[in-house]
This record gives sequence, C-alpha cells and structure tokens, in this order.
Amino acid sequence: MEIFKDIDDLRASLKNETTIAFVPTMGNLHAGHLALVNRAKQLSDCVVVSIFVNRLQFLPHEDFEQYPRTVSDDCKSLSGFNVNRVFVPDEKILFPTPQEFLLALPPVADTLEGKFRPGFFQGVATIVLKLFNIIQPGVAIFGKKDYQQLYVIREMVRQLNIPVEIIACETIRTSDGLALSSRNRYLDAVQRKEASQLYQTLVQTKNEIASGNTDFRALQQHAEDRLRQRGWSVDYLSIHQRNTLLPAETLDTDLVILGAAWLGKTRLIDNLEI
Ligand code: AMP
Repeated sequence: MEIFKDIDDLRASLKNETTIAFVPTMGNLHAGHLALVNRAKQLSDCVVVSIFVNRLQFLPHEDFEQYPRTVSDDCKSLSGFNVNRVFVPDEKILFPTPQEFLLALPPVADTLEGKFRPGFFQGVATIVLKLFNIIQPGVAIFGKKDYQQLYVIREMVRQLNIPVEIIACETIRTSDGLALSSRNRYLDAVQRKEASQLYQTLVQTKNEIASGNTDFRALQQHAEDRLRQRGWSVDYLSIHQRNTLLPAETLDTDLVILGAAWLGKTRLIDNLEI
C-alpha cells in the first residue's frame, strides 16, 4: 500500500490505471468505512481511499478541531484490506490558497441537514468535486448513512455530467442498531446505551407506515416527541420521497425516514428506507 500526500505523485501512480474505485472519507475508519472499501475492491483492482477532514463542511462552532484524527491506525486498517493507495493530503495541498470557488447547490441542499448546518453540502460537494478531479475515478462509493449527502453527490454528478458512477452501500450498525459513526466516540456510557433509540424510533415509525398509517405529519411529531421525552434534543425526524427528498405525500413513491438529534453535545444522524 502506498500513502500519498502530494497530488502529482498520486496522479503519476494512477496514470496507467483503467478503472479507479474511490472511497472518500474523513478518517477515523470503522467497519462502515471498511464496508465501502470492500465494495470498492469488488469493483476494481485499483482502490484509492482519501482521508481528509474537510474544513469547508464545518460551521465555525462545530467540531472541526476535535474531530478524531487517527491516520496511522487508519492506514493500518487499510493495509489489512489490501488497499493500493491512500491519499492523505495536508490542508495546504488541497487549499494552497483559500477555496474561493464553491459550488452553488440546488434547494434540496438547504433542507434537512442543510437547514441545520448551512453551507454543509456546499463544502461536501466542493471537496468531492476536487477529489474527483484529482483522482479521476470511474466509480466512487458512498454510504447510505449520510443519505442526503449521497443524494446531493448523485445530483451533482448527474447535473454536471461528471463521468463517475456513484455506488451506494448500506449502513453498518452495531448489534443494538446504532449506525457506526466517528462521532459515536463522543458519547459517554449512558449516552451510548441511549443512542440506539434514534434507530429504534425510525424502526417504530417505519412499522407504523407499514401497517397503513399515512398521517406523516402526526408520525413525525410522535417520533420527535418520543425522543424528546427520552432527553434528546431533536433537529428533525422527517419522512421524505427517496427520489426527490421532498416531503412524503403518499405511499405511491418509495420513502425514507431521516433523523438528526442531539444526545448532550453529540449530534447523531440516521435514516431508514421504507
Ligand atoms: P465520513 O468519514 O464520515 O465522511 O464518511 C465517509 C463515508 O463513509 C461516507 O460515504 C459515509 O456515508 C460512509 N459511512 C459512514 N458511516 C457509515 C456506516 N455506519 N455505514 C456505511 N457507511 C458509512
């Protein structure tokens, strides 16, 4: 496995590759990330994983500074997975001058996560586009864990005619249902036990819909109330159409329930397709 910090060295090493499978990450790798790597390996012999904590997608008061940085452990995990190349650029490499060109995003990026984290998807889309331009992959693998992010990236690729196929992987969870996330390490023991209730609430809501309840507003309210009563601070718990991410109206389209809520100072997100 080769570790690259420099763009030109990485590109030189990729010059003769035909299909590159790319997995962008912010590091602190867990089994969720490694599932994406596994999928990438099925798709190509040449897998590139990037590790970069992207300042552009953090608001000033968010956890950019505290975000766990564990590059040497990450590289150990990846070498066990037979990954060919890891791209670990410093900020100065990706942003030699301030990143003034930023993508303008469609209205969907101002909903859900975008409403609570203004500028988040602009930061994500801009860095992903930069990484696509640097690595020029044929396929890129993203997790459904970040459902709206996956949607925004798919739309970016479609609307900007970027020649990359986007592949989605299912969310990897612990045995009690909590979606794996680098931010789970911020939870104390009591919060960790409670954390799976976000997923359990999504499951309950899904079961309600499956048994014929289509009063989506009431279901959302009920789900949010349930979490609040348990001590969560809820940003949203909301039922949407999968193909547009617009609010759900009928059961005639495929739906997804998306949620974001705080346990103490830790913000967790999750979702469940119906
Ligand atoms: P991050 O390092 O959090 O930016 O995530 C990098 C990629 O891993 C994104 O495509 C995420 O959606 C994906 N990912 C994160 N957690 C999980 C998980 N629990 N299961 C599957 N994919 C995940």
